[in-house]
Parts: sequence; C-alpha cells; structure tokens
Amino acid sequence: MRSVLVEGPRRMSLVERPMPDPAPGEVRVRVRYAGICGSDLHIFHGQHPYVQFPRIIGHEFAGHIDAVGAGVDASLEGQRVAVTPVVSCGTCHSCRTGRPNVCLNLQVVGVHREGGFADYCCVPVECAVPLPDNVDDRAAATVEPFSIAANMLGRTGVLNEDTALVYGAGPIGMTVIQALSGVHGLRQLVVVDRIESRLDWARDSGATLTVNSADRPLSEALQDAGLSPDLIIDAACHPAILEEALDLAAPAGRIGLMGFSPQPSSVPQSKLNRKELTLYASRLNNRKFPEVIDWMAQGLIRPERFVSHSFKAEQVHDAFALLEESPVECCKVLLDFN
Ligand SMILES: [Zn+2]
Ligand SMILES: [Zn+2]
Repeated sequence: MRSVLVEGPRRMSLVERPMPDPAPGEVRVRVRYAGICGSDLHIFHGQHPYVQFPRIIGHEFAGHIDAVGAGVDASLEGQRVAVTPVVSCGTCHSCRTGRPNVCLNLQVVGVHREGGFADYCCVPVECAVPLPDNVDDRAAATVEPFSIAANMLGRTGVLNEDTALVYGAGPIGMTVIQALSGVHGLRQLVVVDRIESRLDWARDSGATLTVNSADRPLSEALQDAGLSPDLIIDAACHPAILEEALDLAAPAGRIGLMGFSPQPSSVPQSKLNRKELTLYASRLNNRKFPEVIDWMAQGLIRPERFVSHSFKAEQVHDAFALLEESPVECCKVLLDFN
C-alpha cells in the first residue's frame, strides 16, 4: 500500500508498505481522504515532542472499513467512517472519569502509532465513527479538525447572548468561527487577524465584525463597536494573546486557549479575580465525532469552505511545500488516496 513515511526530520517519502492486518478489537480502514495539519508539519521538521521515527503520519482521515479483527462485528465491513485519532487505555483516572482525550497512556494515531496518510490504517473499532450518506468523503476527512473546535466550545460552553471574540482566522480559527456562527448562531462574533484574505474567509463564515490588527488596535475597534467579549477563543496561539485577552474580557468572561506554545504568558491574579474570569484548556477531542458529524449532516457547518486545496497522494511533497511556502493561501489541504 502507498504510505507517507517520515523517516526522520525533513525526510519524508511516499513508499510501498505491506498492508497491515487488524489486531483483535481493531478495524482496517481503506482511507479515501486525509487532511494535513500543522502538527504534521511539526513532525516533518522533527519539532514534535512525542513522535518516534519512522512513522506513517496523518491523523485527520476518513474512508470505509474493509476488514475487521477478532472480536469485531463483521457486518461493519463496508461501513463508511471518520477516524478519531484518540486511542485511550480505558483504565486510568482520566479515562475512568470521562476524559479519555487526556488519558495517561494516550496514543495518538499518526503520532504514537501508524497514521492515515496511507491506503490502509488499522485503529481500534471505537475510533471508527460511522458516517451518514449525506456526509461525503472529503467532508468526512475534516471531522477531526472540527472536533477540535467542538471540544474547545464544549469546555467553555456557548451562551445565546455571548459576544464572542476569536483570535486567528487560520485553519483552527475557521473551525471555531463556523461552529460559533452555524451551530450556535451567535449574533456578535468578532474575528481578529493580521491577514486580510483570512478576514474575508471569516466574514464569509459568519464573523459579524472583523478587525485587522495590523491596521488598528483591537481594543480600539471593540470600543468603537461598543463590544465587550464574554467568550474569547485564542486560535492564533501566541503567548501574548492571553495577556491582552484578560484586559478585553467582560466580567465573568471565559477564555479558551488552543495553543501549545512552551513560552510563558504573564497572568496577574488580580486580572483574573477582579472580573472572575475562567481559563479553559482543550486537547484533541473527547468523543466529539458524533456531534460534528451531526453538524455536517444537518448542514450547520460548511466543510467545503474549509478545504482550500486537494492533492493526489503522489503529490504529497507539493502539498507540504504549498503549506510551507504559501500558508496565507491555504486553509485545509487534503490528500486524495482514491
Ligand atoms: Zn490536526
Ligand atoms: Zn487512560
């Protein structure tokens, strides 16, 4: 089978590998489409803290079940599925208390175990989530990135009357913007970025006010509009944003952080306590695939607006080059394994 193998930092190739057999409790998925994520670029550059080489990468993918391992219902063969990359142990404290996405023994598909940038990938049957007919294979490959937004917003909660502020209209921000607009129907949705074309996308996806912070300070734009955000999502993921968000948040505001920067942010206790703010962290997704698939089936979000490019699997180097050289032109880039 064709596989995108990263053998070490900056050493990636499309190679032939033997087709894997599903272990007991697993299914084998015939992959149709897979999305390239920022973390795949980090792995490619050898900057990912958990990956071990060589590795078949890819954690955003969908296809159909073509074989099942021992103990798995054979009638699942042929079922179209999207694959959640979260493989948890089921027995640790996090798993027992309903937080398997931060399992002590967490294995992420495409990071700790072989991923979905291949014709076939074996995963535990619980990770293969059934798709309805009206969610096509390309959309299905974007369930994982939308599940990141679903998890974050599940953590913060979204109230009807929230004024929301989203930092960053890149791929992560776009999933949050689509969910806040399409699923939650927020009437005040402010998006800030420094790239005008991304702000165009944000408006097209439901932002009611966009601010280019390269042109004017965000605080001034909010003041002019008479807005004070109750819900702030940092999808730009720079440590300085939290410091600004503490000042901009309304009393009782909630702030969700989506970044993984190792750099510290300066967070004075007085700023948190004076307005009784709450900070939320979020990792991967906690069983959010059925919810996101339902959003797609109901037409509440628009994955076709989220996907900006797709490449044949053989063109994987071109796809990575585009993401690295022209990130501004890209939202989600898919690999086609048909
Ligand atoms: Zn991802
Ligand atoms: Zn666990």
